[in-house]
Amino acid sequence: MKRRIRRILSLCLACILLGACAAEEGEVLDPRFDTEEYLPQYDMQNEFSTWNPLCETEEQIFVVFPAMSPFIRYYDKETQTSGILCGRPECMHQDASCNAYTMGTGGLCLYEDRLWFIGQDTQSGEMGLYALSLDGTEREKVQAIEYAGGANTIVRLHRDFLYIGNIVSSVAEGSASYTLSISRQKLGQEASEPQIIYEKTSSMTPNFRYILEANRMFLYCQTDSEEGRNIELYQYDLKTGEGSVLYEGASASFWAYGMNYVEEKVYVLEGTDADMTTTPEVYSSRILRYDLTTQTMEILPEQGHSFLYGQFEMGTQGIYSRLEYSNENGILSLQLQDIAGDILREEEIPVTNDTRTYRSWGCYGVTEDCALYWLEWDNLTGTSRMGAGLLRVPLQPEEEAQWLLEVNL
Ligand SMILES: [Zn+2]
Repeated sequence: MKRRIRRILSLCLACILLGACAAEEGEVLDPRFDTEEYLPQYDMQNEFSTWNPLCETEEQIFVVFPAMSPFIRYYDKETQTSGILCGRPECMHQDASCNAYTMGTGGLCLYEDRLWFIGQDTQSGEMGLYALSLDGTEREKVQAIEYAGGANTIVRLHRDFLYIGNIVSSVAEGSASYTLSISRQKLGQEASEPQIIYEKTSSMTPNFRYILEANRMFLYCQTDSEEGRNIELYQYDLKTGEGSVLYEGASASFWAYGMNYVEEKVYVLEGTDADMTTTPEVYSSRILRYDLTTQTMEILPEQGHSFLYGQFEMGTQGIYSRLEYSNENGILSLQLQDIAGDILREEEIPVTNDTRTYRSWGCYGVTEDCALYWLEWDNLTGTSRMGAGLLRVPLQPEEEAQWLLEVNL
């Protein structure tokens, strides 16, 4: 009898241990996600890796212009109509009670046919993760999150996890330091502590980007130390939980621009901003290409040049946008190029026309068929003073560029 009890006990123990192992494995990788294929319901749209203020479905584009307005806007491709994404008929879309209201921090994520973003509860002040149906009718707070603010926050949802990239500053012994971290926590699990999967401290504000490609995260950051400005390319394996530095080197630039993955290569685009133009020989723009198969970093030499008020963004097909402003002639030039350096399309926009002066701009991303740009302007005539809009430039040069939506204040 004793022996039997012991056997039952040991069987129980084995079950508990097996159960624990299974749970741990399940937490690392859900069987649904054991694939290198792109899963549109669960995978990030890496083409919008700036800070993801835009997402796209077959039918619609969703966008926020955080500097202008905190509300999510939609553009319907078939009807070519746009508006604030709020399905409450009585709503005036003026405050935090609106379904389309966001903090404007962290961006928008498309996941399981809903739009997700972080926000603050107006009553409790608690930070949470929110989801909104694609018709704007149903808004739900999914879970409370730990987020105490920071700079350049980039939120992503990918294969059952919420990722937050964020920079927090602190002062110790009279000098400031900036800590960049990427954390992740399981969706729908309030109690789970965020797991830090990357952390780095710098004496100046770091620049960073990260993308999630199947079961890998790729991160690019620029940090400063006594030796100078450095870049690091980092990989985190979502299956095994192992992280590794793929490349470390000196940075020739001041901004982290586009980042994307195309056929086992990771592209990183560094750019220089206006203040650096006094020393263009030191700081320049360039495209770096890391080959994951041969584990080598290559600098594409034809792209090294000084660059004003501009931005590179790499698309998922190896076509990138080069946005550049010329002070001399007041022209904003948009170029779509392939990685061989061939220009597929060029557009020139005068920064001042009869009705507007454009004062800031950027590229939200390059998709399979177009590049999407935001531009902010001051109106020279009319009642509204400022505005912003979304400009679509098709990759096919014979197709017209088109304003998809405008916000006027
Ligand atoms: Zn509303």
